[in-house]
Amino acid sequence: YAAKTKRNNVIIFNEEMMADRLAESELRTALFKAVENEDLVVYYQPKINIQNNQLAFEALVRWPHPEFGILSPGRFLHLFNTGSSITSMTECVVNQVAQDIRRWRDKGLSPGSVAINMPEAILISGMAFDMLAHAVERHALKWSDFSIEITEDVFMSKYTEQISATVVKLRELGVSIALDDFGTGFASLTNLRDFPFDDIKIDRSFIFNIGVDEKSEQIIKSMIDLARNLGNSSIAEGVETEAQLLFLQQAGCNIVQGYFFAQPQPFETVTRGLELGEFPYDSFDPAQHRNR
Ligand code: C2E
Ligand code: MG
Ligand code: MG
Repeated sequence: YAAKTKRNNVIIFNEEMMADRLAESELRTALFKAVENEDLVVYYQPKINIQNNQLAFEALVRWPHPEFGILSPGRFLHLFNTGSSITSMTECVVNQVAQDIRRWRDKGLSPGSVAINMPEAILISGMAFDMLAHAVERHALKWSDFSIEITEDVFMSKYTEQISATVVKLRELGVSIALDDFGTGFASLTNLRDFPFDDIKIDRSFIFNIGVDEKSEQIIKSMIDLARNLGNSSIAEGVETEAQLLFLQQAGCNIVQGYFFAQPQPFETVTRGLELGEFPYDSFDPAQHRNR
């Protein structure tokens, strides 16, 4: 098979590539249908403030696929290529999260604020604001029940000003803003100076190297200090071991999140955890979390 893209630029497809393409486009069709039917589900992973024991969660989308099981975003996020489909997905996530917070509140449970990963396109268009406003009103929630996480990619955008405007508006209402995957992208010190945010979320690739690579350890310490000196909080993601936790605690990190404490869990599991008083952790003792 051959497809002509540009003149003199012929791409040869073999059968395997064709099959991949086909599978990909079938997956996309199924995904769009799942979004339309609101079949996506949201899992929650605790974010624990190890200085004041305050609890929060991050909302992480999952796609329960009839054939392949529960799919993580790594398997399907890239299939959203149009503005409208990513908008529908985000809307689906925001609505689900709002509903879940309402259900927790109705049971007298406090999950703290729930973070939503907000794609750049939704921040640019201002839809992020509309979606949250709608959710707050419809479910009688507080703006501070939500926080958002945005990746450093936003600083590469031509529309940083629009994004910044949305973020300022949300922050004034009480939504806190975290810079996600910090240290892997394009955030410059100028961005840190000019962009309104609350937390720096240190990327998992640094945390992974605690006890392995001394430079990573020094960078982590510097990021924690940087956050503190700017008046922001530091969050470590991907904390898997007690050794990593102890290092972070000693370095003065504010908030930790990772498999050492809990994997992302469905609503029912989190509800049970909240009911049993497993969160928040009354006194912060690493031993309490071993083998959880
Ligand atoms: P992220 O926002 O950086 O989320 C952290 C990812 O690390 C999650 O993967 C989480 O399950 C995983 N993780 C947490 N703790 C550990 C750990 O201790 N070890 C390891 N190895 N991994 C850990 P997940 O859920 O597969 O999500 C991947 C990415 O997909 C997220 O990265 C985020 O960028 C994106 N994403 C997730 N949910 C949404 C969503 O609702 N909307 C959008 N736009 N993006 C989302
Ligand atoms: Mg995130
Ligand atoms: Mg991250």
